[in-house]
Amino acid sequence: VQTQNLKTMELIELDKKHYIHPTTPPKVQAEQGTPLIFADGKGVYCNSTNGERYFDGLSMLWNVNLGHGQQELAEAAKEQMLKMAYASSFKGYSNEPAIQLAEKLAALAPGDLNAVFYTSGGSESNDTAFKLARFYWSLKGQYKKRKIIALENGYHGVTVAAQTATGIPAFHDFADSNIADVFHAKPHLTNCESGDRHDPNYEGCIRDIVEKEGAETIAAVIMEPVQGSGGVHIPPKGYLRAVRKLCDEFGILFIADEVICGFGRTGEMFAVEHWDVVPDLMCFAKGVTSGYSQLGGVMMKQSIRDTIVQYEGVLSHGFTYSGHPTACAVALKNIEILERDHIIENTSKMEQTLKEGFNYLEDKHSHVTNCRAIGLLAAFELYEDRDTGKLFDLSVAPATTVVDECFDRKLILRTLGSNREIVAIAPPLVINKQEVEEMITIIDDAITAFEKKLE
Ligand code: PLP
Repeated sequence: VQTQNLKTMELIELDKKHYIHPTTPPKVQAEQGTPLIFADGKGVYCNSTNGERYFDGLSMLWNVNLGHGQQELAEAAKEQMLKMAYASSFKGYSNEPAIQLAEKLAALAPGDLNAVFYTSGGSESNDTAFKLARFYWSLKGQYKKRKIIALENGYHGVTVAAQTATGIPAFHDFADSNIADVFHAKPHLTNCESGDRHDPNYEGCIRDIVEKEGAETIAAVIMEPVQGSGGVHIPPKGYLRAVRKLCDEFGILFIADEVICGFGRTGEMFAVEHWDVVPDLMCFAKGVTSGYSQLGGVMMKQSIRDTIVQYEGVLSHGFTYSGHPTACAVALKNIEILERDHIIENTSKMEQTLKEGFNYLEDKHSHVTNCRAIGLLAAFELYEDRDTGKLFDLSVAPATTVVDECFDRKLILRTLGSNREIVAIAPPLVINKQEVEEMITIIDDAITAFEKKLE
């Protein structure tokens, strides 16, 4: 147990008493208190109120892409706040940063994704995408097209519609909040018939649902180009194109949830670009501001925009913070820095360094397997027997142990996977070679400690 300074001890007590945390066991929190109170940070590091420095190996929640303590982003926010902190975008009102960002996003987004609807985060973006898809079809006279198909293991957020689309059981089942009309297909990892993880059936599992429900009832298919919270699963090469083709064949909109992937995380501005796929709707959040301000949005194809603007009634959807000027000003600066400092090129270079580190870990530790990285969205797994694919018993929770050991060594990572077998790594995109190596050294020590516990 570390010695806490007085201020930290007081904060822990107040936190226990008054603060209910998201995605946290409330009983543990209320009894034991917060494990860490963040105070400030610089680059890949952040400091606790207790004066300890941690390596942020997950960019907090996969979002602090330009790293901590980025002065220019803070200044962009301050400058805009001093001019006008907030401006309504209802009733057609607009503001300069929101307009400029819309133009920039149209230029950056693939294909003819030329218009944006702003939100304040990822869940709101996905809920918005579902509504826009249904609205679009009703404007086309296709009133029955209401159903949404998502993938098992996908994470799309926690607002009611997004939670229903989320295919991770703990979130999907929370508090009986699901709605009808959302279906789940097995992901590309699994053959829907045989359940074999190594037999990618491409889009077949989605096709099964389309054929069963009838294409005339399906509004959209949503997926993350690379599943994040479901375990960092990179799709097989032809998968996204096959889904695109299937959507075209049946007249279904393809929604790409780029909330984690977007803005350079995977080594391209948007992950769909790895496979040359243009979705009909593209949701973003997180990396658009590197977490310095709350912003999300849905990009839409020209044809969807052109259909929507024919509507003479009110588009009865929107958030107080849609098009928030400060958030948009931060996003503009964030994108400017991404481009100016060649951050996406750095991401691809550091992917290679990380993969070298993975090779080293795999050679040294017999339980390490399935190492993968696309840009700086990465993971490895811990199996009891990697040759036969035998998982550890759930009670071993190998990734949880390794992540805890890393935490003790001041590196923050995250455990994923239904068997707690996946360790996720997603550091800020500004990371350098030496810092990647520092992470690998800590992970190496943490796995050695885990192996000792197995003896
Ligand atoms: N979609 C994806 C792929 C995400 O990873 C997340 C959050 O982690 C969300 C949506 C939800 O975003 P938010 O938490 O901003 O509502």
